[in-house]
Amino acid sequence: MELVVDWDGTATEIDGLHLVLLEFGDRGVYEEHEERLGRDLTLHEVIAAEFRTVRAPLDEVVAWVRANVRLRAGFVDFARRRRPLIVSSGFHELIEPVLEREGLELTLLANRVEARPEGWRVVFRDEAACSVCGEPCKRSSVAGLRAFTFVGDGFSDHCVAEAGTRVFARDGLADYLASRDIAFERFDDFRDVDRALGTDAYRLSSDSSSIPSSRRM
Ligand SMILES: [Zn+2]
Repeated sequence: MELVVDWDGTATEIDGLHLVLLEFGDRGVYEEHEERLGRDLTLHEVIAAEFRTVRAPLDEVVAWVRANVRLRAGFVDFARRRRPLIVSSGFHELIEPVLEREGLELTLLANRVEARPEGWRVVFRDEAACSVCGEPCKRSSVAGLRAFTFVGDGFSDHCVAEAGTRVFARDGLADYLASRDIAFERFDDFRDVDRALGTDAYRLSSDSSSIPSSRRM
């Protein structure tokens, strides 16, 4: 079974997009748009508007991200062994430097950004509206997967988590799923997820008869 993990606030301890906006963007615009998320603005509209207030050069922001964005406990070891697909509404330009810092090479599906001096312009990977939630969403990134385990935390994970075969959630995503009576497992860090998955990944992706009995538990 494929393993799909969100980046900001899931693989990272704190949402890196929010950290960058608070450090380099306009706090008033940020707070106003966060308030309107899921009400009268879509996630893409919110991200685009918030990042238009960032005017710093990309290399300056990348250096700050490399120095300040911390990964959640257990993630690096988990990612090395289980090779999750990372699906993010963040940007390649700000995620790859952190992966590189940790020596991780993972497949990443994310948006891109053009760091223009008059305000950053977000280039979204997929603008097509999802048939379930009616907005562009992460569900399109997993459309080719027959079954997947999803690990996430936030607003951008709501719709895709509902498509997951097995779901690990924390923070806002956990509240959302609980409010809709959708089954999920709560996690604090990646040691929890790793323990819960056990040998699942091996068992589901290969013929069970070929697995050494010591692993069949
Ligand atoms: Zn959707």
